[in-house]
Amino acid sequence: MIATKTVKDYIRTIVDFPHEGIMFRDVTTLFADPRGFRMAIDQMLHPYAGQRIDKVVGLEARGFIIGGAIAHQLGTGFVPIRKKGKLPGTTISQEYTLEYGEAIVEIHDDAITPGETVLVIDDLLATGGTAEAGIKLLERLGATIVGCAFIIDLPELGGREKLTQMGMEVHALCE
Ligand code: IMP
Repeated sequence: MIATKTVKDYIRTIVDFPHEGIMFRDVTTLFADPRGFRMAIDQMLHPYAGQRIDKVVGLEARGFIIGGAIAHQLGTGFVPIRKKGKLPGTTISQEYTLEYGEAIVEIHDDAITPGETVLVIDDLLATGGTAEAGIKLLERLGATIVGCAFIIDLPELGGREKLTQMGMEVHALCE
Protein backbone atom coordinates (compact mmCIF):
# COMPACT_ATOMS: atom_id res chain seq x y z
CA MET A 1 0.00 0.00 0.00
CA ILE A 2 1.28 3.50 -0.83
CA ALA A 3 1.03 5.85 2.16
CA THR A 4 -0.48 9.23 1.25
CA LYS A 5 1.76 12.14 2.15
CA THR A 6 0.32 14.82 4.39
CA VAL A 7 1.24 18.52 4.43
CA LYS A 8 3.48 17.87 7.43
CA ASP A 9 5.52 15.33 5.44
CA TYR A 10 6.65 18.08 3.05
CA ILE A 11 7.95 20.40 5.80
CA ARG A 12 11.54 20.03 6.90
CA THR A 13 13.25 21.08 10.11
CA ILE A 14 16.55 22.92 10.06
CA VAL A 15 18.38 22.60 13.36
CA ASP A 16 20.14 25.66 14.86
CA PHE A 17 18.63 28.21 12.44
CA PRO A 18 18.67 31.22 12.76
CA HIS A 19 20.45 30.67 16.11
CA GLU A 20 21.73 27.72 18.07
CA GLY A 21 18.96 25.85 19.84
CA ILE A 22 16.21 26.83 17.36
CA MET A 23 14.45 24.16 15.30
CA PHE A 24 13.35 26.10 12.23
CA ARG A 25 10.30 24.68 10.45
CA ASP A 26 11.06 25.22 6.77
CA VAL A 27 8.06 25.34 4.43
CA THR A 28 10.10 26.02 1.27
CA THR A 29 10.14 22.26 0.65
CA LEU A 30 6.33 22.26 0.84
CA PHE A 31 6.08 25.24 -1.54
CA ALA A 32 8.49 23.61 -3.99
CA ASP A 33 6.38 20.49 -4.38
CA PRO A 34 3.38 20.86 -6.74
CA ARG A 35 1.22 18.36 -4.83
CA GLY A 36 2.27 19.61 -1.42
CA PHE A 37 1.67 23.27 -2.27
CA ARG A 38 -1.75 22.63 -3.79
CA MET A 39 -2.74 20.42 -0.85
CA ALA A 40 -1.76 23.12 1.63
CA ILE A 41 -3.71 25.85 -0.20
CA ASP A 42 -6.79 23.65 -0.60
CA GLN A 43 -6.75 22.63 3.06
CA MET A 44 -6.27 26.19 4.27
CA LEU A 45 -9.30 27.28 2.24
CA HIS A 46 -11.52 24.45 3.40
CA PRO A 47 -12.85 25.97 6.69
CA TYR A 48 -13.94 29.16 4.90
CA ALA A 49 -16.08 27.61 2.17
CA GLY A 50 -19.24 29.65 1.71
CA GLN A 51 -18.07 32.54 3.91
CA ARG A 52 -17.83 36.09 2.64
CA ILE A 53 -14.20 37.12 2.32
CA ASP A 54 -13.45 40.45 0.69
CA LYS A 55 -9.67 40.40 1.04
CA VAL A 56 -6.86 38.06 1.96
CA VAL A 57 -4.14 39.61 4.14
CA GLY A 58 -0.67 38.05 4.15
CA LEU A 59 2.00 38.57 6.81
CA GLU A 60 5.56 39.07 5.52
CA ALA A 61 7.08 37.10 4.02
CA ARG A 62 5.80 33.56 3.59
CA GLY A 63 2.25 34.77 4.20
CA PHE A 64 2.56 36.52 0.81
CA ILE A 65 3.17 33.25 -1.03
CA ILE A 66 0.30 31.38 0.60
CA GLY A 67 -2.01 34.39 0.81
CA GLY A 68 -1.50 35.22 -2.87
CA ALA A 69 -2.48 31.69 -3.91
CA ILE A 70 -5.52 31.75 -1.60
CA ALA A 71 -6.65 35.16 -2.88
CA HIS A 72 -6.37 33.89 -6.45
CA GLN A 73 -8.44 30.84 -5.59
CA LEU A 74 -11.13 32.92 -3.83
CA GLY A 75 -11.10 35.62 -6.50
CA THR A 76 -10.37 38.33 -3.91
CA GLY A 77 -7.75 41.05 -3.58
CA PHE A 78 -4.57 40.56 -1.58
CA VAL A 79 -3.16 42.98 1.02
CA PRO A 80 0.37 42.72 2.46
CA ILE A 81 1.33 43.55 6.04
CA ARG A 82 5.05 44.35 5.91
CA LYS A 83 7.92 45.11 8.18
CA LYS A 84 8.57 48.80 8.79
CA GLY A 85 9.80 50.89 5.89
CA LYS A 86 8.87 48.56 3.01
CA LEU A 87 5.50 49.89 1.89
CA PRO A 88 5.65 52.92 -0.43
CA GLY A 89 2.35 54.65 0.41
CA THR A 90 0.96 56.17 3.61
CA THR A 91 0.90 53.54 6.33
CA ILE A 92 -0.21 52.89 9.89
CA SER A 93 2.20 51.00 12.18
CA GLN A 94 2.00 48.61 15.07
CA GLU A 95 4.83 47.69 17.42
CA TYR A 96 5.14 44.22 18.90
CA THR A 97 7.54 42.28 21.07
CA LEU A 98 9.95 39.67 19.78
CA GLU A 99 12.01 37.19 21.81
CA TYR A 100 14.81 39.78 21.81
CA GLY A 101 13.57 43.34 21.36
CA GLU A 102 10.80 44.91 19.36
CA ALA A 103 9.56 45.02 15.77
CA ILE A 104 7.09 47.11 13.79
CA VAL A 105 4.68 46.04 11.07
CA GLU A 106 2.78 48.31 8.69
CA ILE A 107 -0.18 48.34 6.33
CA HIS A 108 -1.24 50.94 3.77
CA ASP A 109 -3.88 53.09 5.41
CA ASP A 110 -6.19 52.76 2.38
CA ALA A 111 -5.75 48.98 1.92
CA ILE A 112 -9.02 48.12 3.67
CA THR A 113 -12.43 49.74 3.38
CA PRO A 114 -14.15 49.77 6.80
CA GLY A 115 -16.51 46.81 7.08
CA GLU A 116 -14.59 44.57 4.69
CA THR A 117 -14.16 40.96 5.80
CA VAL A 118 -10.61 39.64 5.71
CA LEU A 119 -8.75 36.38 6.17
CA VAL A 120 -5.28 36.62 7.78
CA ILE A 121 -2.60 34.25 6.49
CA ASP A 122 0.90 33.26 7.62
CA ASP A 123 3.04 30.14 7.47
CA LEU A 124 3.58 29.61 11.18
CA LEU A 125 2.01 30.59 14.51
CA ALA A 126 4.46 30.67 17.43
CA THR A 127 3.87 33.23 20.24
CA GLY A 128 1.21 34.95 18.13
CA GLY A 129 2.91 38.34 18.45
CA THR A 130 3.20 38.90 14.68
CA ALA A 131 -0.39 37.91 13.99
CA GLU A 132 -1.64 39.97 16.95
CA ALA A 133 0.08 43.08 15.57
CA GLY A 134 -1.43 42.41 12.13
CA ILE A 135 -4.89 41.96 13.63
CA LYS A 136 -4.56 45.26 15.52
CA LEU A 137 -3.69 47.06 12.27
CA LEU A 138 -6.67 45.52 10.50
CA GLU A 139 -9.03 46.38 13.35
CA ARG A 140 -7.78 49.97 13.30
CA LEU A 141 -8.76 50.13 9.62
CA GLY A 142 -12.23 48.78 10.39
CA ALA A 143 -11.84 45.26 8.99
CA THR A 144 -13.89 42.32 10.22
CA ILE A 145 -11.55 39.36 10.62
CA VAL A 146 -13.12 36.09 9.47
CA GLY A 147 -10.21 33.98 10.68
CA CYS A 148 -6.45 33.48 10.91
CA ALA A 149 -5.01 30.51 9.02
CA PHE A 150 -1.53 29.01 9.31
CA ILE A 151 0.23 25.97 7.97
CA ILE A 152 1.93 25.24 11.30
CA ASP A 153 0.94 25.92 14.90
CA LEU A 154 3.56 25.53 17.63
CA PRO A 155 1.04 25.05 20.46
CA GLU A 156 3.53 25.19 23.34
CA LEU A 157 4.28 28.85 22.46
CA GLY A 158 0.72 29.98 23.19
CA GLY A 159 -0.12 31.81 19.95
CA ARG A 160 -3.43 30.06 19.41
CA GLU A 161 -4.53 30.90 22.95
CA LYS A 162 -3.51 34.54 22.52
CA LEU A 163 -5.45 34.94 19.27
CA THR A 164 -8.46 33.00 20.56
CA GLN A 165 -8.59 35.33 23.56
CA MET A 166 -8.75 38.22 21.08
CA GLY A 167 -11.88 36.59 19.64
CA MET A 168 -10.15 35.14 16.58
CA GLU A 169 -10.97 31.86 14.92
CA VAL A 170 -7.64 30.09 14.35
CA HIS A 171 -6.95 27.26 11.91
CA ALA A 172 -3.68 25.43 11.31
CA LEU A 173 -2.92 22.42 9.13
CA CYS A 174 -0.48 20.78 11.54
CA GLU A 175 1.34 21.13 14.84
P1 IMP B 1 5.27 34.67 16.42
O1 IMP B 1 5.10 36.13 16.19
O2 IMP B 1 6.06 34.35 17.65
O3 IMP B 1 3.94 33.92 16.39
O4 IMP B 1 6.15 34.10 15.24
C1 IMP B 1 5.60 33.85 13.98
C2 IMP B 1 6.36 34.56 12.90
O5 IMP B 1 7.73 34.17 12.92
C3 IMP B 1 5.79 34.17 11.56
O6 IMP B 1 5.78 35.30 10.68
C4 IMP B 1 6.74 33.10 11.06
O7 IMP B 1 6.94 33.18 9.67
C5 IMP B 1 8.04 33.34 11.82
N1 IMP B 1 8.62 32.08 12.36
C6 IMP B 1 8.93 31.81 13.64
N2 IMP B 1 9.45 30.57 13.75
C7 IMP B 1 9.45 30.05 12.54
C8 IMP B 1 9.85 28.75 11.99
O8 IMP B 1 10.31 27.81 12.68
N3 IMP B 1 9.67 28.59 10.66
C9 IMP B 1 9.14 29.55 9.87
N4 IMP B 1 8.78 30.75 10.34
C10 IMP B 1 8.92 31.01 11.64
